[in-house]
Amino acid sequence: MKPKILKGIPASPGISMGKAFLFDTHEMGQAVKRPILEEEAPAEVRRFKEALNKTRQEIAKIKEKISRNIGAEHGEIFSAHLLVLEDAMLVDEVISRIKKERLAVEYIFQDVLRKYIKAFSNIDDEYLRERMSDINDVGRRVLKNLVGAKHDTLCELKQPAVVIAYDLSPSDTACMHKQSVIAFATDIGGRTSHTAIMAKSLEIPAVVGLEDVTAVVKNGDYVIVDGNKGIVIVHPAQETIKGCELEKKGFEEKERGLLSLRDLAAETLDGRKIEIVANIELPEEVTSVIYHGAQGVGLYRTEYFYMNRSDLPSEEEHFEAYKSVAQNMAPHSVIIRTLDLGGDKFLSHLEVPLEMNPFLGWRAIRFCLARPDIFKVQLRAILRASAYGKLKMMYPMISGLEELRQANAILQDVSAELKAKNIAFDENMEVGAMIEIPSAAVISDLLAREVDFFSIGTNDLIQYAIAVDRVNEKIAYLYESTHPGILRLIKNIIDNGHKAGIWVGMCGEMASEPELVPILLGLGLDEFSMSSLIVPEIKKIVRSISMEQAKEIAQKAMSFSTGREVEDFARAKLKEILPEFEIK
Ligand code: PEP
Ligand code: MG
Repeated sequence: MKPKILKGIPASPGISMGKAFLFDTHEMGQAVKRPILEEEAPAEVRRFKEALNKTRQEIAKIKEKISRNIGAEHGEIFSAHLLVLEDAMLVDEVISRIKKERLAVEYIFQDVLRKYIKAFSNIDDEYLRERMSDINDVGRRVLKNLVGAKHDTLCELKQPAVVIAYDLSPSDTACMHKQSVIAFATDIGGRTSHTAIMAKSLEIPAVVGLEDVTAVVKNGDYVIVDGNKGIVIVHPAQETIKGCELEKKGFEEKERGLLSLRDLAAETLDGRKIEIVANIELPEEVTSVIYHGAQGVGLYRTEYFYMNRSDLPSEEEHFEAYKSVAQNMAPHSVIIRTLDLGGDKFLSHLEVPLEMNPFLGWRAIRFCLARPDIFKVQLRAILRASAYGKLKMMYPMISGLEELRQANAILQDVSAELKAKNIAFDENMEVGAMIEIPSAAVISDLLAREVDFFSIGTNDLIQYAIAVDRVNEKIAYLYESTHPGILRLIKNIIDNGHKAGIWVGMCGEMASEPELVPILLGLGLDEFSMSSLIVPEIKKIVRSISMEQAKEIAQKAMSFSTGREVEDFARAKLKEILPEFEIK
């Protein structure tokens, strides 16, 4: 068979090759419209109820297994699936239609599900689309139990395989193990989508946004996933496989080599110390943070506590997680970002109205300010945990001063309550703002007076400033971190922060783009926060350049008129600084 190369978006570094496992998350097969006799209807209903029961048991088992192996928050994904099975309207409709239409349950059940899914898919709302995938997931399970087939899940993947899917939901990703899922490739998604971010956390090579990988690859095909270049090679020739094996070895050797920098300081040739810290989603990732030599956590995304569960996390749950991260990272600092739900991180239990534009909607700090009851639980836990290590916290999606003041006022209330009860916390804990909305970047001079630090969230800043959806692969070409408009916003934020005497960090994916490190250093960025995996590489670059060089590079970069020119220049400069460095 002829080799085929598919180009997508590099989502998580590394190269893996092996047999493809087509994970069908998209479509259910067509059930046959089989007529039944009137007297057969009760047996058909019984069959349906048995399949529901069996599915319920299966899901509960998976939930338990995942909670035990990877953590309760991942297991909670399946609570949403269990809820679909409890949906009285859905169940009653199937039963009454079996009796009325005298058709076999498979067809009726699939038809009812289709109606539900269609209703959801017509609504332009990320949260509801996620519900749609829950229904789809559960529906396929029930159908397979009805016909006696086994449901495919990534949890049950026995042989190591490259997973090929249209998209992967959080419940799919939660099931992944490095041992069995050696790489994944999807039709949709962008580089800063949370599926891509999760792949890096799990250290699984991944390429997203391939558009038609599920149409090209068949089950069992031999494929190579190159997460460095963002390509998938189907039916590679023997010499290509050999070449990629060598590249893989080289990449892994390079990674191991870089690890030797683990205990060295992140400082420039002329002695400027930079903070290179890590982004985490789950407390367990601290091991990887330390292993890769990061000097702390610059972004702890706390949304995963709230996602895919049917209840709200308790103050104790928050507290235990924050305390463990603070203790395990001590004496290094950990920046906890307060709840940032919304956008492509959906809620599954809170009543959130449908929205046309979820990324521009009722999310993050907007949601927290409207629901101080929920917000205060998290703030109390953060403050209490601050007594056990070096914690800092920051608010996401600050768009203006009033929001910042309101958030700080709630924090003050919570602090006063704790004080009144003699509960220990760090009264000098640094409180910062993420700068990820263009309005905040423009008025960063005003915001800087009222916070202890800034952390630039470029994933969102770029999406809002260029008006380019960060999860849409069709317009990914517009998503340019080197766009002169973006560089100017970043310079403005750093300059304003420094003028007010506060430090400025960056926790968006841009902080881990190797060729941009000299520019960001030259602009004066104090802290770079990224996936642990990339920390050694970025440390190497910082240690290979002087501030004088970096400032010159930054100045020149600011003089270009297009993102392309900046990118070409940045690549050429990095090649000069580190000739052996492989630029993607
Ligand atoms: C960002 O927007 O850059 C960021 C770090 O936050 P998130 O990716 O979680 O939106
Ligand atoms: Mg963000």
